[in-house]
Amino acid sequence: MNKQKIAQERIEILFKLAQEEFDKHPERSKRYLELVDKIRTKVNLRLTKEQKKLFCKKCHTLWIKGKTLEIKKCAKLPDIYICKACDTERKL
Ligand SMILES: [Zn+2]
Repeated sequence: MNKQKIAQERIEILFKLAQEEFDKHPERSKRYLELVDKIRTKVNLRLTKEQKKLFCKKCHTLWIKGKTLEIKKCAKLPDIYICKACDTERKL
């Protein structure tokens, strides 16, 4: 197995853990997502489009619609994802 494949698998596990821990341990959830970023940078891996929509790249908060995330829909344009934790806007 190559490094990227292993990294991809680890990242998927970390996403799952971050989602499981979010309600009870938001800080732990954040740490998992920081790890995702670290692993990703280390092996130069691109997250999938779906994975990018799961959390804030800036503050590593897990995005839950209506809770930590607001989505602005624009016709013919990419949606704007607004992180409610740090107010960062991203087109996704
Ligand atoms: Zn944020």
